[in-house]
Amino acid sequence: MTGVRRPGLDSRTSAAWLAAASLAALAALVLVSFPFIHGHGPETGAIVGSWLPAAVVALVGALMLPWESMPREALLLVPLLLVGLVDVTGRWAPAVGPAYSPMVIVVFLFVGLTQRRYVSPLLLPFALVAWADSLHHAVNDQQIVRAVVISVVWILVAEVVAWRTADQARVRGELSAFAEKDALTGLDNRRALDARLVQPEPQTATIMIDIDHFKVLNDTFGHLEGDRVLADFAHVLAAVLRNGDRAFRYGGEEFVVIAPRTGLAGAQRLLGRVRKAWEVAHPEVTFSAGAAVWHEGESSQDVLGRADAALYRAKADGRDCWRVSDDPPPLVAAV
Ligand code: GH3
Ligand code: MG
Ligand code: MG
Repeated sequence: MTGVRRPGLDSRTSAAWLAAASLAALAALVLVSFPFIHGHGPETGAIVGSWLPAAVVALVGALMLPWESMPREALLLVPLLLVGLVDVTGRWAPAVGPAYSPMVIVVFLFVGLTQRRYVSPLLLPFALVAWADSLHHAVNDQQIVRAVVISVVWILVAEVVAWRTADQARVRGELSAFAEKDALTGLDNRRALDARLVQPEPQTATIMIDIDHFKVLNDTFGHLEGDRVLADFAHVLAAVLRNGDRAFRYGGEEFVVIAPRTGLAGAQRLLGRVRKAWEVAHPEVTFSAGAAVWHEGESSQDVLGRADAALYRAKADGRDCWRVSDDPPPLVAAV
């Protein structure tokens, strides 16, 4: 069925790999356990009653839980849960269970807190201790094999958790970057601008740019040509901005530039550079702009509003020019 969202499975590739890994682990477990199911009464109970359910629960949990978005406190519960599972296993197979607890706790704490991949090799020394412990207690072959199989399953589970965590973090990062990009121009969009506008700084210039008579351009040459002009304008902006300046597509044919440590004079120099480059790219299309610099006590939205008002003055003064806003910030009456 299409459109059904499976919890925790963000990427088809990793889901397929993880499903294959889980099936392989379960197949290995069943295969190795098979000889015991025939002819070993109590062992059958141990295998069917504890190992298989424990392995299935752990693998399914590792696959399905949205590890990356879980709070760290919830991750701390994972080792407790595993200790419970190991304890159940230990009741059925005393030589295996207790030796495993520290290993599982340490590794899952590490995976949960650091969210790192490729930590499963860390399990190997602990697994060796557990295997040596099995041998030392002179247990039978079945229990040694069981120790080995259970080690492999836990190693796989740890790797699956780390893999899911890394994969979900990557997908989430890609989605949030995607949500803040404008598809046509590749510039940051209005949502990104809103996030950027939270913290204004002194001397930060806010510049609003609007392409002149863009509707006429669309009507004359078609919307595809209009789109191409918008993309070209974004390229010009990206080319002339300094490191630290940021350009956004505000909407339609309007762009906003946020230029820290620039001031009004710097904003005008910046606009001069944009005009020079734009005249080379599209001499037939002009733009108007308004610039404002943040004053103490103003919100970023206030500055944007003043830049917009300055842009309107540029339009009213005949377009193909820019105006700056040096209005003092509105006085706030002391209460
Ligand atoms: P002014 O000089 O006063 O700014 O006039 P204008 O024609 O540029 O402004 P107006 O607001 O009248 O028209 C803007 C046009 O921009 C109208 C809209 O169809 C067009 N537009 C908005 N977004 C896009 C887009 O993504 N692609 C194209 N091709 N056109 C767009
Ligand atoms: Mg406009
Ligand atoms: Mg316009």
